[in-house]
Amino acid sequence: MSIVQLSPRVEELKRTLADFVEDECIPAEEECRKALGEGAQRWKAVPAVMEKLKVRARSLGLWNLFLTKEYKEGAGLTNYEYAVLCEIMGRSPSIAPEACNCSAPDTGNMEVFAKYGTEKQKEKWLKPLLAGEIRSAFAMTEPEVASSDATNICTRIERSGNGYKVNGRKWWISGAGHPKCAVFITMGKTDLSTTKHQQQSIVVVPADTPGVTVVRPLTVFGYDDAPHGHCEVVFDNVWVPAENLILGEGRGFEVIQGRLGPGRIHHCMRSLGMAERALELMVERVQTRSTFGRKIVEHGVVLDYIAKSRMDLESARMLVLRAADMIDKIGTKNALKEIAMAKVVVPNVVLTILDRAIQMFGAGGVGQDTPLAEFWAGMRTLRIADGPDEVHTRQIAQLEIRQLNAKKASRMNKGKL
Ligand SMILES: Cc1cc2nc3c(=O)[nH]c(=O)nc-3n(C[C@H](O)[C@H](O)[C@H](O)COP(=O)(O)OP(=O)(O)OC[C@H]3O[C@@H](n4cnc5c(N)ncnc54)[C@H](O)[C@@H]3O)c2cc1C
Repeated sequence: MSIVQLSPRVEELKRTLADFVEDECIPAEEECRKALGEGAQRWKAVPAVMEKLKVRARSLGLWNLFLTKEYKEGAGLTNYEYAVLCEIMGRSPSIAPEACNCSAPDTGNMEVFAKYGTEKQKEKWLKPLLAGEIRSAFAMTEPEVASSDATNICTRIERSGNGYKVNGRKWWISGAGHPKCAVFITMGKTDLSTTKHQQQSIVVVPADTPGVTVVRPLTVFGYDDAPHGHCEVVFDNVWVPAENLILGEGRGFEVIQGRLGPGRIHHCMRSLGMAERALELMVERVQTRSTFGRKIVEHGVVLDYIAKSRMDLESARMLVLRAADMIDKIGTKNALKEIAMAKVVVPNVVLTILDRAIQMFGAGGVGQDTPLAEFWAGMRTLRIADGPDEVHTRQIAQLEIRQLNAKKASRMNKGKL
């Protein structure tokens, strides 16, 4: 349900996408899992079914929907419209977003190229990313420093001839394990002598540059998320030409702020889709088994779980849609509080819904026969990835205080206080 009337085009996209996800993506999940195989093989090839689904999504007009109307390369949607569609993709998080070329971290990286890239960078990286021919990674977090404060990032990007030399160790770099990962958007310090927020710059590092080593994939509660994964990556005397710098020296913060605004909301949207699927599975399950002389669904506490899950989900959706609508109407910079609120509330709410669904499946809920355990593991990371809860709540509180103080000052100026 949407609170803003959707255009006939978006309603049509919604129907087509819902059928694609239900009839083709969800049924492909098991095939994809099996095709990945075991051990090192899991990182070597993309399952054929995924490539087939990409062709199919493209033929249905479900391609690159994330790139909103401000970009000429995009599908011409608003953030609000994309929110509604992205939620549907979230019902099959391991398949549908990638099939529609709408998966992280590529979406954020494509936005960086579209927003800040030179014509040459666009030609070289944005074009094949938009075509789904290559994939990409965003390399910021480092094992040696608390990376939720990005001023700590200490990879060095130093001038060397007519280019830059990159030295540093990154980890949790999503997508770095993918056989088609061709490029790292990499953050590091170019100037240690200037102010904290002007020390960082961003360079594009082609994955096949000498000195780039994907050291190991990391696991999320035991899941490796192959073939894209989350990897530790070393940059050892990696040289890139000066034209690979994005936007300019010292402008790294500007780039990551532009990248993470709508990107954070995309994660929230997909999470709501996962919660919808979990709630459906829960409602179905509790009607099929009985304990103590009645169906599980007939126990009052279970009805309470169902009702609370629906109420939680609807409240969380309102926050996400409001944030998306504000990005459309007043821009990311003026919607920071709403984006941060959605980023904190949604993963927590969805985790609670997933937990209830797991509980209703009993032991079956923690195993591999339903998607619930894997959903829970992925969702738990969203309280940390793209900035932990505490960093966002800090920002919400600071904005709240600033806004209330400004309101008070304005009333005082008018002589009303
Ligand atoms: C699955 C997954 C995928 C990821 N993908 C990527 C990726 O593609 N690219 C990338 O660069 N990074 C990625 N990350 C990394 C992620 O963005 C960082 O883990 C996150 O920003 C936190 O940084 P940190 O791990 O260094 O934690 P730290 O900065 O060491 O913080 C540890 C904890 O301290 C607490 N804390 C921090 N600041 C405050 C505060 N102000 N007030 C109160 N408490 C605080 C928080 O609880 C936080 O969790 C990913 C992480 C995960 C789990």
